[in-house]
Amino acid sequence: MVSSHLSGDGPFSKRCHAWLERTLGCGRALLTHSCTAALEMAAILCDIRPGDEVILPSFTFVSTANAFVLRGACPVFVDIRPDTLNMDEREIEKAVTGKTRAIVPMHYAGGPCAMDAIMEIAQSKGLWVIEDAAQALLSTYQGSYLGTIGHLGCLSFHETKNIISGEGGALLVNESGLAEKAEVIREKGTNRRRFFAGEVDHYTWTDIGSSFLPSELVGAFLCAQLEQAEKIIAARRRIFDLYHRSLRSLEEQGIIRLPSMQDDSVSNGHLFYLVARTTEERKRLIDHLEARDILAVIHYVPLHSSPAGKKYGRASGDLTVTEDLSSRLLRLPLYYEMTDEDVGRVVEAVKEFYAGDS
Ligand SMILES: *Cc1c(COP(=O)(O)O)cnc(C)c1O
Repeated sequence: MVSSHLSGDGPFSKRCHAWLERTLGCGRALLTHSCTAALEMAAILCDIRPGDEVILPSFTFVSTANAFVLRGACPVFVDIRPDTLNMDEREIEKAVTGKTRAIVPMHYAGGPCAMDAIMEIAQSKGLWVIEDAAQALLSTYQGSYLGTIGHLGCLSFHETKNIISGEGGALLVNESGLAEKAEVIREKGTNRRRFFAGEVDHYTWTDIGSSFLPSELVGAFLCAQLEQAEKIIAARRRIFDLYHRSLRSLEEQGIIRLPSMQDDSVSNGHLFYLVARTTEERKRLIDHLEARDILAVIHYVPLHSSPAGKKYGRASGDLTVTEDLSSRLLRLPLYYEMTDEDVGRVVEAVKEFYAGDS
């Protein structure tokens, strides 16, 4: 393909859009320069205003909250479920006030939130649902791809995710009435897309917006990644399953906890974690692994306990599960090139650490 097109929405970006729309079955997919940008677009699209409230988990990445704080909204943090570590749908109704405008479920580790319950609450209260599916490309919930169930879905192609373009993301517009507005917001608030499509004879400033689209260089890289997506995800699922099988005996002895498998979903193998019995035990395990050149990292400092979270947001109820599990959770290495031997080495190191206990 010969193309001198380097700015956004050239032939490669269009191929990415088509791949996402065809594969995921979403209404409209728009590449962005990050998932953060997609979340910021979602906040503008839902017309989030100063004083509005948005319900989301505290156990998530900062962008899930920050995108709404930028519009002047207050993030209201709810607790997570102990089994999936996802937003506890039973806590949502208690957090709803007259100011609530949206629910932002985040699918941790590529495992789904209880989207049927969340969509039902949203419908009964007239709220938007914006899925933070940054970690969840190609995971499914009851047969639907994550990111396509809420009104809007946000994907990340950051290099730490499964499918990457260095920095990158996409907004999935599942509510057809929002598609045209999304295109305008993404093109600096202009109707440039309609101009290029020959629908208007000049383009002009029609709404607020910013530059949310990535260059064709990013689109081209991502295109090649998407073509390999099934293979990449199959490899990650294999590593995830191997970890799970290999460490199950420690879970059965009540020593550690592993990610729980949900019957109605298929995960994309984004990350693998274990939960130690105490924070102190986790610290010793991190050191034990580090001494064997294995990098294991924690997730997340809960947003409600962070300086900005305290300043801009508030917690709904006690977030005891969030505080407990985030203080004991440890992620193990998981990357595409990882061999069964690499996994075996990590498993052996973990088992060696717990050898005295079993
Ligand atoms: C990675 C991540 C983001 C941010 O993605 P970027 O593409 O780096 O902006 C947002 N939310 C969650 C849950 C993430 O894991």
